[in-house]
Amino acid sequence: MEELRRARAALGSDVLVLAHHYQRDEVVAWADHVGDSLELSVQAARSAARWIVFCGVGFMAETAALLARPGQKVFLPRPEAGCPLAEQVDPASLRAAWQTLGRVLDMDEVLPVAYINTHAEVKAFVGERGGICCTSSSAERILRWAFARRPRVLFLPDHNLGLNTARLLGLPQEEIAIWDPRCPPADLSPFARAQLILWRGACPVHMRFLPEDVARIRREHPGVRVLVHPECRPEVVAQADEVGSTARIVRRLQEAPAGSAWAIGTEQRLVARLARAHPDKTVLPLADYPPFCPTMSLTRARDLARLLVALAQGQEPEGVRLPEEVAEPARAALQRMLAVAA
Ligand code: SF4
Repeated sequence: MEELRRARAALGSDVLVLAHHYQRDEVVAWADHVGDSLELSVQAARSAARWIVFCGVGFMAETAALLARPGQKVFLPRPEAGCPLAEQVDPASLRAAWQTLGRVLDMDEVLPVAYINTHAEVKAFVGERGGICCTSSSAERILRWAFARRPRVLFLPDHNLGLNTARLLGLPQEEIAIWDPRCPPADLSPFARAQLILWRGACPVHMRFLPEDVARIRREHPGVRVLVHPECRPEVVAQADEVGSTARIVRRLQEAPAGSAWAIGTEQRLVARLARAHPDKTVLPLADYPPFCPTMSLTRARDLARLLVALAQGQEPEGVRLPEEVAEPARAALQRMLAVAA
């Protein structure tokens, strides 16, 4: 801790440390900013720091690198920390799906939309086809934008977020088809009819919440308000009182009156931190055994120390690097999102 403190002080404003809400407290304690993936990437792009240290998972550091200023370098303290949701779509299976769907659809009519939880190569595929990225807070606005431009949308990779957003748009079930990349369908007719094609991927953390959890928490805490993330199953979202992105969950708790009680369906480190930040409110995890994101948990204060000490000693470890042929279209998809969601 002493080495970390000294390195941090020596680096001063040359380094910006960002921590996602799901990081451990021992990491969050050293952050200049704590936020969700997009908030942090935008913070990084606004900063004049030479080095951006992103305590989060791979796609977040890639997004920060895509939006970074020229000359800024982005580091992930644990380069192997990936997002299990982002791993569920890779460029090869996406290309194969696009080709197969082309047997029954005019692919010029399909606008691809990539959730921010995707690798840069996937964002690049989407960007090359005039597509756009979205976050959980902008998904509804982005899907409306997409449908105003083309009659069909391919949304990837979180089908729960897709289904929950489709419900807000009032899209009937028969207009939605789900593409399972592990088991591509023999019968393509549902895709030929669908307005919205969803990639079958899901966040293993948010999938842990079940309708039974909502029923139990209401039984045990009458009057509790249930607030869940839109990556939760639609059956859970349907029974919740409110649904909102990570940033909205944080804001909702700030605005809530003293004495109110909340059961939160999202990653447990954020829920525990919200409970500590709002001692005048009751903040409960929605599930009996609340889920932690396993890859967010990988980063420890000692990883941050190792990286900052190396930077303070004048060594420059390998940062996030993206080839320009990937970075350019991926950035275009992100910038479209920023323009639409601003
Ligand atoms: S909570 Fe889910 S979506 Fe977020 S980083 Fe972990 S696995 Fe990925």
